Amino acid sequence: MYNVKAYAASSATSPLAPATIERRDPTEHDVQIEILFCGICHSDLHTVRGEWGEVQYPLVPGHEIVGRVTKVGSAVTRFGVGDLTGVGCMVDSDGTCPHCKADHEQFCPNGVQTYGSPDKHLGCVTQGGYSESIVVNERFVLRIPANLDLAGTAPLLCAGITTYSPLRRQGVTKGQKVGVVGLGGLGHMGVRLAKAFGAHVVVFTTSEGKRQDALRLGADEVVTSRNADEMRKHTWSFDFILDTVSAEHDINAYMSLLRPEGNLTLVGAPPKPLSVAAFSLIMGNHSLSGSNIGGIAETQEMLDFCGEHNLTADVEVIPIQKVNEAYERLLKSGAKYRFVIDMASLKAE
Ligand SMILES: [Zn+2]
Ligand SMILES: [Zn+2]
Repeated sequence: MYNVKAYAASSATSPLAPATIERRDPTEHDVQIEILFCGICHSDLHTVRGEWGEVQYPLVPGHEIVGRVTKVGSAVTRFGVGDLTGVGCMVDSDGTCPHCKADHEQFCPNGVQTYGSPDKHLGCVTQGGYSESIVVNERFVLRIPANLDLAGTAPLLCAGITTYSPLRRQGVTKGQKVGVVGLGGLGHMGVRLAKAFGAHVVVFTTSEGKRQDALRLGADEVVTSRNADEMRKHTWSFDFILDTVSAEHDINAYMSLLRPEGNLTLVGAPPKPLSVAAFSLIMGNHSLSGSNIGGIAETQEMLDFCGEHNLTADVEVIPIQKVNEAYERLLKSGAKYRFVIDMASLKAE
């Protein structure tokens, strides 16, 4: 074992503060990674504050990790010292269940999350990326294309795969019309990815102020969702709509914009159940789905796709000392579009 510096929450109500945590020495299949950047995901905030279930403290969040390999175990074949790598929301799974065998490790009943899961090596819980380094089984380590900006790449490991996966599953391609509801951390990735897939992209937003930004990100059209006339013009025209909104909103207004057989997929998580009118589904054979992150193979495919299209997230890079301030701004939607921690700042602690 060795000690690393980190930022941890010691209770649901305490701010993140400097801490020292233990990492295991790499076993034969492990890769040790010096963390260079770590994105701040909404899940980090909700989890450390105990809003998504019981948490064992202290807890170091962070599952949008980009770093450089500093050591590899004797049986590691895919990585070497100096390689640029990424780690997302998962760090292990049983590898034997039907989901793992289908490359859907995200559904594994014995999956290990990057933070807050029981850690079979150290006996405590796994600790995330707001730290100097991490040790991960090579099966869960991803390769970062050399041309990508590293800070902008960190959010791809969660926000990127969360939006890439449903776009791929729905077969979004050239000539299709795709809607993206909401223009936050997930939404802005959805716009860039759908555009890279060749779709005609329409952004729905409640704030007129986001129009220019949506166009800059590549949207072909921007619709103010509060304007019923504007909405009506798009009735039965969308192949696919990606709904990234985590606040309460009227889902039926969007279902009615799908063409027959069209699909709307939720990736945002409003706290209260959504009310869905049966006829908004029935009349056009519409389907309503949800989508999680993707498996490791799909995450690598997404990173390679982003490499080919030179596509990253828009980020505001912060030193780790500003992480609590960033959380407060995140709650007020003050991020544009993702905060990423420059982990070099942790060395100054
Ligand atoms: Zn996340
Ligand atoms: Zn499994």
